[in-house]
Amino acid sequence: MKKTLLRIALLLAAIALISTCIGPGLILNAVRQEPPAENYAYRDSFLNDYEDVRVHLAALAADLGAEIASHPIDEGEGLYIDSFYLPAKKAPTNLIVLTTGVHGIEGYIGTVMLDVFFREVYPTLDITDTGVLVVANVNPYGMKNFRRYNENNVDLNRNFILDWDSFDLSSNQEYPKVDTFLGPTGKIGNALWHEVGFYASLAKTAVTDGADTISDALLTGQYEYPQGVYYGGTGDEASTAYLKDVFSRCLESPYENIVHIDIHSGYGPRYNMVIFNSVFETMTEAESREAFGYDHIIAHDSESFYATTGDTTDFFYRLALQKQTDTALFSTCFEFGTIGDAFFDTILSLKYTVDENRNHWYPTDNATSAEIIRQNYLELYYPTETAWREKTIQDFKAAALGVLEAKLR
Ligand SMILES: [Zn+2]
Repeated sequence: MKKTLLRIALLLAAIALISTCIGPGLILNAVRQEPPAENYAYRDSFLNDYEDVRVHLAALAADLGAEIASHPIDEGEGLYIDSFYLPAKKAPTNLIVLTTGVHGIEGYIGTVMLDVFFREVYPTLDITDTGVLVVANVNPYGMKNFRRYNENNVDLNRNFILDWDSFDLSSNQEYPKVDTFLGPTGKIGNALWHEVGFYASLAKTAVTDGADTISDALLTGQYEYPQGVYYGGTGDEASTAYLKDVFSRCLESPYENIVHIDIHSGYGPRYNMVIFNSVFETMTEAESREAFGYDHIIAHDSESFYATTGDTTDFFYRLALQKQTDTALFSTCFEFGTIGDAFFDTILSLKYTVDENRNHWYPTDNATSAEIIRQNYLELYYPTETAWREKTIQDFKAAALGVLEAKLR
């Protein structure tokens, strides 16, 4: 009997030892992004380096006969917001504003879409009365460092508050309840045991506070935990101040109709780009679908609609209201889904988000764990799969043509 027990104990110890050594490597193999294919549409637009993006943008602007204006965010680090403007040739009726990289790492897919726009959409426009303004790499730190957040860990799409003095920084009542789950401290060690620990912690938090509390705490943004996820800051970040001023100048310009598209990735069904309308846009989901001839819409009346604070597109509408301008405005977000929107996909997205943020503050000593975190985060915002990349182009083109057809005068 004793011998049998000893054997079982030894066997279990051996299994634990082997899985601790082998498990992380297996996880890394499972999550590693596939190398991009040799050839597919816009292959050369899918870049992987912030400097390359800047060079690429400069060439694009030059081809169009425009000049890049670089607004410094941190000159020492070489961080700039790059813009260019193509004025309407005769009458300033319509102004199209394209913004990319508000969430740093998402600027890579944004760069691709600028190429798609100028190659396939721009030639269809009547440029005698339509101008285009591109504001690229709004969060250059996040682009350079492959983070969603900026140099102060601020989520810029939660930082566009119209008036900070009257804004309640403790507006997110749920976040404090789940902060220990969303903002764990300490270095991540062995990847296998980290997986086990994450799901145990998730289960514990879900049982104690309810799964809804976690989702409510997350997406709306929070303003009290500077090292946490979805932190919206406590005042205008440098990038925000700049873009706010750009929006203000657009509304004060002679253009009578503005269409703004802010390009994002990471949320929604994997192979579908979603047009995610501002809460200030009155069109319903059905009306938008009809108007744009595009199926994947989230509008204020959609079941999956969620309101955030400090959103870029909401800010644009608030500013227009504050200015009491006659300018017509449509400001929306194009969101490329990556992981997916099924229940377990959203848990994975959450895990990748929490792990990356933790590793930013407490970098792991474990090379395998570091690489798993990096690969997962890239997959969350910038997949390499050819089918995904090709579909993003189709969707962007269809949605952009549909929106502009409906909204330009
Ligand atoms: Zn985003």
